Amino acid sequence: MSLSAWAWRGLAAAATTLLAAEGLYYLLRYVRWLREQQPKVLFFPAPVTCVRPLLLASPGRCDCSLPHRESSLSSLARLLLAARRSLDVCVFSISSADLGGSVLAVHGRGVRVRVITDSDYMALAGSQVGTFRKAGIEVRHDQDTNYMHHKFALIDGSILITGSLNWSAQAIFRNKENVIIIKNIDIVKAFTGEFERLWNEYDPTKYSFLHKGKRKPPI
Ligand SMILES: [Zn+2]
Repeated sequence: MSLSAWAWRGLAAAATTLLAAEGLYYLLRYVRWLREQQPKVLFFPAPVTCVRPLLLASPGRCDCSLPHRESSLSSLARLLLAARRSLDVCVFSISSADLGGSVLAVHGRGVRVRVITDSDYMALAGSQVGTFRKAGIEVRHDQDTNYMHHKFALIDGSILITGSLNWSAQAIFRNKENVIIIKNIDIVKAFTGEFERLWNEYDPTKYSFLHKGKRKPPI
């Protein structure tokens, strides 16, 4: 039995429609991917809000009196919490309980977390470094009198968070600060290289200042 000319035309029209729909689907996916590659910017200070619900293992409600709306802080916390394979933090001062809690929550899910920070500022009151170490997170720090002054983090080795922001309540809620989120492969690669370089340089087996009795001057 052979198909009539009308049937062939109908089949051809259906095939064309299907191809057009598939083409449109891939085009929309490509546009979405392109949009996701665009850098994003967060500005601070952020309004004082509560991000505790984001840190809970299972979605829950928080009854505290603070607002629970979205802010630059909640956006930053969400980014950190999105880590699935690795979270590499290289930040001068880490004393924010909100961002510290985000790091702990990521570590608690079994994600590999590494932290590099400044040896002076990790000793200040409110520093999250002691909490990190108690939780089993490996922390390394500089070994000289200059500051480890970077403020960046890498999510899954593919997203870079960088800018002026120290992870402190002062910087988050009071200072004028900026944070840029970048997925550009070349820039991410450069920061990954810097992180690995410092991680290796600050290996505790290479500590030298302890043996030489060098101490940093007071701040
Ligand atoms: Zn709350």
